[in-house]
Amino acid sequence: MGTPLALGIDVGATKVAFAIVDAHGAVLASHRMPTHAAGDNDLSTRFRTTVRAFLADASPVACVGIGSAGPIDRSAGTISPVNIAAWRDFAIVDAAQQLAGTPRIELIGDAQAMAFGEFAFGAGRGSRNMLGVVVSTGIGGGLVLDGALHLGSSVNAGFIGHIIHAVDGDPCACGGRGCVEAYASGPSMTTWAAAHGCAAPAERFEDIALAAHHDDPVAQAAIERGMGALAHALATAAVLNDLDRIVVGGGVADAGNVIHEPLQRAFADAMRHAPFIVANALHWSALGAQAGVIGAATFALRRAFPELVPTPT
Ligand SMILES: [Zn+2]
Repeated sequence: MGTPLALGIDVGATKVAFAIVDAHGAVLASHRMPTHAAGDNDLSTRFRTTVRAFLADASPVACVGIGSAGPIDRSAGTISPVNIAAWRDFAIVDAAQQLAGTPRIELIGDAQAMAFGEFAFGAGRGSRNMLGVVVSTGIGGGLVLDGALHLGSSVNAGFIGHIIHAVDGDPCACGGRGCVEAYASGPSMTTWAAAHGCAAPAERFEDIALAAHHDDPVAQAAIERGMGALAHALATAAVLNDLDRIVVGGGVADAGNVIHEPLQRAFADAMRHAPFIVANALHWSALGAQAGVIGAATFALRRAFPELVPTPT
C-alpha cells in the first residue's frame, strides 16, 4: 500500500479548486469550478456533484483539508466567504465527510493553507518561523511558528491585511481606516492611480502594473505607496514573531519585478532598524495557484498521520 492521499479544497472568491495530493506534496489530479455560474443558484448542490465526480475518478483519500476565504467557523465546520453570497454558514465539513467517507477533515483559512503549502513544499522549505502572504483583491496571510501552522484563537492568525498602517488613514473594505489592505491590495493601488491621473484603465491592477513597467510615474507612485505600506506590515510581523522567512504570493505579486523590486527595497529599509532579527529573507511563492490546495491537503495529512512528516534536512 502506498502512502495515504488527501483531498485538498481551496475556496476562493471566484473559484473552488480541488486536488488529490500525496505526502510528498505532489498533485496527482486537480479540478476547479467557478463559484458563480450563469443560471445556477444552488452552489451547494453543484459543489457536491463536482466533488463526487472528482473523487470517483481518483484513488481513495484518507483525509480532507479545506482552506477557505473567511469568515470561517472551525468548531462548527462552516464557512461564510465574504464574496460568495450563496454560502452563509455552509456546513462544508459535514459535506466533505459525507462525500469523502472519512471523518478526518481539517478546515483552515485560505491564506493559512497557502502559507503551509509554501512552508512544506515551496519557497518556505527549510524555514522554522514563516509568514505567507497573499496579495490580491485583498491581503491575507498565515503564520508558521516553530515549524507548525499557528491557527490562532479564531483561525485568523497571520491575517496581516488589517494591521493598521496609518492611523485615521484610507478607508478599508473591513469598515476600518488605514489598514494595509487599503494601500497595498490590487484594487487599492488601482483606485489611487486613477484618482491621481494615471492614464491606464482604472479597472484592473494588471493595467497599472503594465503602465508602471512602461515608466508611468503615477502607476509607479501607486505601487511605491502600496508596497511601502506592505513592507511596514511585513517588518512588524518579522519583529513580532522573529521570522526567518516571508513568502509573498497572489495575483499582485505575480506582476513580477514592478512589485518585487519596490517591496524588497522598502522591506530591507524597514528591517534596517531591527538588526536583531538576523534572518528575514523575503521570497516569492514557488507553488503559485496550487499553494492553497497543497497546503490544505498537507495540513490534513500531517494531522491524521503525524509519522508522515519528513525529517528536516
Ligand atoms: Zn481593514
